[in-house]
Amino acid sequence: AAKGAGRNRYSYFTPTLQVAALSRMRLTNDLRNALKGEQFELYFQPIVHLDSGAIHKAEALIRWNHPQRGVVSPMEFIPLAESSGLIVEIGAWVFRESARWVRRWRQEVHPDFQVSLNQSPLEFQREGLSYECWLAHLQSLALPGQSLVVEITEGLLLDASNSVSNRLLQLRDAGIQVALDDFGTGYSSLSYLKKFDIDYLKIDRSFTRNLAPDSSDMALSEAIIVMAHKLDLKVIAEGVETPEQRDLLAAAGCDYGQGYLFAKPMPAAQFDAFLRDNAIPFAASIVKSN
Ligand code: C2E
Ligand code: MG
Ligand code: MG
Ligand code: MG
Repeated sequence: AAKGAGRNRYSYFTPTLQVAALSRMRLTNDLRNALKGEQFELYFQPIVHLDSGAIHKAEALIRWNHPQRGVVSPMEFIPLAESSGLIVEIGAWVFRESARWVRRWRQEVHPDFQVSLNQSPLEFQREGLSYECWLAHLQSLALPGQSLVVEITEGLLLDASNSVSNRLLQLRDAGIQVALDDFGTGYSSLSYLKKFDIDYLKIDRSFTRNLAPDSSDMALSEAIIVMAHKLDLKVIAEGVETPEQRDLLAAAGCDYGQGYLFAKPMPAAQFDAFLRDNAIPFAASIVKSN
């Protein structure tokens, strides 16, 4: 039987798959050295309040500066970090760096500055993760829980298991806020929005991309915004690339925008300078009719 299975299996391993598997193995090996070698870097992208143009929030996005391959996208290495267990250390590093920078921006830019950081589903559900420890670390820096927002994806909420709702309760106990990332790309069941305690809803950039007056994505975005507000959530639109998109979103009542129109993600020191240079805000250009 083993032989038959082996044969069957063998047929799947086409040369390209072998190459891909090998390159994944190499990359996973390199990943083990990346933390020690200080090859990770945290980038930040502003989240802009659309009415005032003020920037009191940013999303932390990890980058891996691979010594030979250059910058490797998190889309490529986060799955490897998960399967190898390295996500634990990487996540801890992202948290500590985020805390370090948000402290500075609370002191020097705005007292309510918030940094949001991403947690993959495995990371979020991992036993051993403790938001009490996070809060203790924040407190050692004289920071409240509200300094941070954790971004999770909606797929997690479909899993009705207690572990997910317990995690969300732990976050709330620590005062750390929660954003639902990439909203609209998954199963988007609306019922869980009232069931769980969520603070922000991030409209995925696939909606923002096709925004035009009277388009179906416009209608969907408007409906999402109205619904979110009724449930007391703030809305952040991802992937805002044009002034038209920004203005349509602002007119629809969207609270915040994030995207290349305002700035691409940038290294922390550069973002720090950017915050100081952008005292004049990026307000939406629309004139509100009463
Ligand atoms: P995400 O959380 O949805 O992050 C938004 C992604 O959209 C980022 O890609 C950002 O660079 C990109 N983006 C922002 N504005 C625009 C725009 O106007 N146009 C376009 N086309 N793209 C825009 P990035 O940095 O490559 O990150 C990809 C994903 O990797 C993130 O998606 C997130 O799911 C994951 N990720 C990033 N950093 C971390 C991390 O520290 N931990 C974990 N677990 N996942 C992370
Ligand atoms: Mg995100
Ligand atoms: Mg997102
Ligand atoms: Mg997204």
